[in-house]
Amino acid sequence: MQIFYSINSLQDFLKSQRKMGRSIGLVPTMGALHKGHLSLIDASKIQNDLTVCSIFVNPTQFNNQQDLAVYPRTLEADCQMLESVNCDVVFSPNAQDIYPTLPNLKFDFGDLERVMEGKFRLGHFNGVGIVVSKLFNIIQPDNAYFGQKDLQQCAIINRLVKDLSYNLKLNVCPTQRETDGLAMSSRNRNLTPEQRKIAPAIYKSLQKAVELLKNKNSSESVKLLIVNQLDNIEGIKVEYFEISDFETLQPINELSEGKTALCIAAFMGTTRLIDNVII
Ligand code: AMP
Repeated sequence: MQIFYSINSLQDFLKSQRKMGRSIGLVPTMGALHKGHLSLIDASKIQNDLTVCSIFVNPTQFNNQQDLAVYPRTLEADCQMLESVNCDVVFSPNAQDIYPTLPNLKFDFGDLERVMEGKFRLGHFNGVGIVVSKLFNIIQPDNAYFGQKDLQQCAIINRLVKDLSYNLKLNVCPTQRETDGLAMSSRNRNLTPEQRKIAPAIYKSLQKAVELLKNKNSSESVKLLIVNQLDNIEGIKVEYFEISDFETLQPINELSEGKTALCIAAFMGTTRLIDNVII
């Protein structure tokens, strides 16, 4: 496995690989890797000759400086995990290389970003759009891999690829969970043991909501019930719970099988967790 810290050295290497006709898969991450990330590497390894994992805690997508400050950074352990799954290349640039100047460029993803993460984390998807565009331009992958765990991010990137005519295929991989159902997340490391114990309630509430919707309960009544139940658990505070069309991400009033996404964000102390399921 090769590790590159600068754009130039990575590009020199990738140029030589492309000359040999090798296809490139990109897995963008912010590090603090877990098995969810590794499942994306596995998917890329199956479909590409060369898999690049980028590790960059992107400052422009954090609207909360405290969140950025406590975001876990574990490069050495990340590289060991990547080596264990035979990832080919790690790209770990510093902020100065990615942002020699802070872009004034602003993305507006329209309705897609007026809800959920975009609504509660103002400017978040502008930062995501900028860093992902930069990575696509720097690496020029044939395939890029993202997790369904960040469903709205997948919808935004899908739009970005179309709007800017990126010549790559976007691949969305299923959410990997701990055995108790909690979606794997780098932020889980910031949970106290007590918080970790109750955190699976978030996924359980999604499962409960699925059952209620399948039993013909209205979106509104399901939303009220689920938010109330979760907020009644000490240590959990729901930020939003939405029942939406899985592509447009706009709220819907009743279940449409195969097209409905249930998305949730909740605080456990200062740690903010998100999860979703698609029916
Ligand atoms: P992050 O480092 O958290 O920005 O995540 C990097 C990529 O890994 C994103 O495409 C995430 O959606 C994906 N990812 C994060 N957690 C999981 C998970 N539990 N299962 C599958 N993919 C995930």
